[in-house]
Amino acid sequence: MPVSVSPLPPLAGLEPARLDWRCDDTGESAPLSTQFDDVYFSRHDGRAETEHVFVQGNDLPRRLADWQAQRPFVIGETGFGTGLNMLCAWACFDAHAPAGARLHLVSTERYPLRREDLAQALAAWPDLTKRAERLLGQWPEPVAGVHRLWLDERVTLDLHFGDAAERLALLEGRVDAWFLDGFAPAKNPEMWRPELFAAMAACSRPGATFATFTCAGVVKRGLAEAGFAWRKVPGFGRKREMLAGEIASPPADIRRARTPWFSPPTPQPPRHVAVIGAGIAGASTAAALARRGIAVTLIDRFDRAELGTTHLQGALYVKLAVETNLQSRAYLAGLLHSRRWLAQLDPEQSLWRPSGVLQLALSEQEQARQARFLDNHPLPESVVRGVDAEAASAAAGIRLEAPALDYPGAAWVKPLELCVKLAGTPGVSFRRGEVASLAASEAGWTLALADGETIAADQVVIATASEAARFSQTQALPVQPVRGQVSQLKLPDGAPALGRVVCAGGYVPPAADGVLNFGATYGPGDTDMAEREGDHTANLAELERGLPHFVAVLREAGVDLSPERLTGRVGVRAASPDKTPYCGPVPDAGAWHEDYAALAKDASRVPDVPGRHHPGLWISAAHGSRGMASAPLCAELIASRICDEPLPLEWPLVDHLHPGRRVIRDLIRNR
Ligand code: SAM
Repeated sequence: MPVSVSPLPPLAGLEPARLDWRCDDTGESAPLSTQFDDVYFSRHDGRAETEHVFVQGNDLPRRLADWQAQRPFVIGETGFGTGLNMLCAWACFDAHAPAGARLHLVSTERYPLRREDLAQALAAWPDLTKRAERLLGQWPEPVAGVHRLWLDERVTLDLHFGDAAERLALLEGRVDAWFLDGFAPAKNPEMWRPELFAAMAACSRPGATFATFTCAGVVKRGLAEAGFAWRKVPGFGRKREMLAGEIASPPADIRRARTPWFSPPTPQPPRHVAVIGAGIAGASTAAALARRGIAVTLIDRFDRAELGTTHLQGALYVKLAVETNLQSRAYLAGLLHSRRWLAQLDPEQSLWRPSGVLQLALSEQEQARQARFLDNHPLPESVVRGVDAEAASAAAGIRLEAPALDYPGAAWVKPLELCVKLAGTPGVSFRRGEVASLAASEAGWTLALADGETIAADQVVIATASEAARFSQTQALPVQPVRGQVSQLKLPDGAPALGRVVCAGGYVPPAADGVLNFGATYGPGDTDMAEREGDHTANLAELERGLPHFVAVLREAGVDLSPERLTGRVGVRAASPDKTPYCGPVPDAGAWHEDYAALAKDASRVPDVPGRHHPGLWISAAHGSRGMASAPLCAELIASRICDEPLPLEWPLVDHLHPGRRVIRDLIRNR
């Protein structure tokens, strides 16, 4: 099998920037990096320098004023630092760009500032306060990877934490203008290496410009070798010269030479998209597209807005493998993404609570597994930490008998209410109906509804969970239905309140509105929607196994815990065979069988043919029971792909989620 060696760096926390606040040569206090012994900016004229070198050096006022494309203008940066450059670029965009334009910022950073340092640094620029607050409010955990922030309705920032050359080699997206920052080459030679310029070139748009404060020989040579034409232009202040230039024809992207089937389809930004399925996958995709100015018809056979109160709660949590794998990386990225996304969407926390999640280790085997996981993943304690039974009890607010992994940033969510809110995003119109079939048309797609009506759309996203494979175009993407029953119990006043979602076999979120949810059962292949008493019995046994003291307190308080007293809710989740969601363009499986038939004989013979897809057909499905972590990130991924923007995940993870992986695997195994 052609193995694509993953160039991903370790899944780990990053060392924060170490700052020294000292007076610069004008007598004003400015941050200095003790790692590099160089200043981030001059407090006296840092703004003017940014404007001169990066903003004017890339001719941004004129280019942004002229920007008419449906896709966003993309600025890439090495060395985010305090964010001053990017905030200035955002201000320039607001001052010059036409109303319909969008801006996408991509910046790498190897030593992220601590939030309090960032706040102190940005306090130097009072007219940037509002922008700085948006940044600070979403400032990510210092974890290697991509972190997407929504600066406002038109401006997105992707922070790629890690080494610039490594991160840009993993970037799936193309840049229009580069801010080549970073400490001076003499102070930071490791960054200004040939791989950095090569990676910049590989993810440049034709004609992409760059500007940098330095004229060092190593930079001129590196840029020229990578294909950038540079020229000296007047520098800022005492610096006589700086460099600016452009790349006429960037090199071809060869990253998928061994996996050509994952080559993305040519973007055709649409006006109108139909999203089938209004659960969390579909509703979040609809909202992500509408936010980008696309008209969305969201179709589902039932309207969640009519359900009334269900008291359902879902957990935003992940289960990560002991040894780092692509699936764990994607899920951890999803967890961190969903957390920021929920905070933006519902700052009042009426639909979710960042309660944190405890994953109990009820057996010795699980304890050993958790210990090995922690050894392998030096992540910040604010993301995940190991706790003994005592610390777990303190976090949960009830005595627990087992140690646990504690995810303080995880959460619980009211999934149905969340879907209703997303479906109400301006630009999304809900249509109740059942899509019976899909047909490609000249203009895009025609959806035939069971009630006889048809809907025309430029593009279609299938987000129908366990039913996602029922269209003729998706039959090669198997999904297994998994029935799950949650039990619900009305708690008396004064019942103990859980401080965390507690997971072991199932999950128990802190009661909301006086109702305790616990479960769920796991019934692969089962689609029966009837509530079962036997499942309540199983959920009660699981509750008692994980939270014996909680159950004892409830019994002492006279709560009747017999299964026949419980109410329940049944749902059908969907799982792919490898338990990774399907997210991306729908492969034309017939074409893949023709184009890649040689793989069946010899998996190392990779035909040089890009994957053929059903044009404008996408899927986000098979999110299993962790959809709160995966679906919102997949929504951004699909919306970004559709709109020809940089993606919020590294390309190997984008490929890991690609729905066509299954077709290739079967071909290679000669099935
Ligand atoms: N652009 C920043 C601003 O607007 O505040 C100033 C950048 S500061 C002069 C240089 C930044 O580059 C620092 O934040 C430093 O941590 C970062 N850096 C240094 N080496 C790096 C590398 N190899 N990869 C990514 N970032 C790096």
